Amino acid sequence: MNVVLFGPPGAGKGTQSALLIEHKSMKQISTGDLLRAAIKNQTALGQQAKSYMDKGELVPDQVVIGMVEEVLKADKHQNFIFDGFPRTAPQAEALAEMLKRLDMKLDRALFLEVPYDQLLTRLTGRRVCRSCGATYHVQSKPPKVDAICDVCGGEVIQRPDDKEDVIGTRLKAYEKNTEPLKDYYRAQGLFQSVDGTGTSEEVYQRLSREL
Ligand code: AMP
Repeated sequence: MNVVLFGPPGAGKGTQSALLIEHKSMKQISTGDLLRAAIKNQTALGQQAKSYMDKGELVPDQVVIGMVEEVLKADKHQNFIFDGFPRTAPQAEALAEMLKRLDMKLDRALFLEVPYDQLLTRLTGRRVCRSCGATYHVQSKPPKVDAICDVCGGEVIQRPDDKEDVIGTRLKAYEKNTEPLKDYYRAQGLFQSVDGTGTSEEVYQRLSREL
């Protein structure tokens, strides 16, 4: 089963993908994670993407489409969760074409619904481990030792694009480019909205009922 998991920044896509990987043996393709890895490894693609990401803008379609295509070609016929991809109409079209070429199909587009004020609280308080990517929140889930990751002992930091001045740009990019994908997937009968509020376990229970 191949699933698009989408929603505004801070909706919990990464957290829910991690749970789906753990419980349903799915494979995640997170374009955000792939881009951050490219930046960390100082590749040409990473350098190109960084300027967009730091500002909270979307990275050009062709860059992310190319990245996803590489993973799909190498690993086809897995159960994929597309996390944070597609984010634009051209990306959605490209995904449909790529899947068709590889004799695969999309089964669901699950949308995580979270009210705006909760998104802001989640994003401004989010912290991540620089090494393993584990996520924390200053209020609801702080690491046991300040700024040290519980999982791997790495440094826990605030993502540069979770700073307050960048969050506004990310939310606007979401509204303009990604929100319209609701209708795109609705028209294909793939769309399902899932209440993204509450604990990650509660959200996971709701999500897994749709799979
Ligand atoms: P995320 O980790 O999914 O919140 O993504 C972080 C940032 O990476 C976004 O704000 C964009 O700058 C970039 N990004 C991730 N996925 C995409 C995508 N599918 N299309 C364009 N930019 C993306």
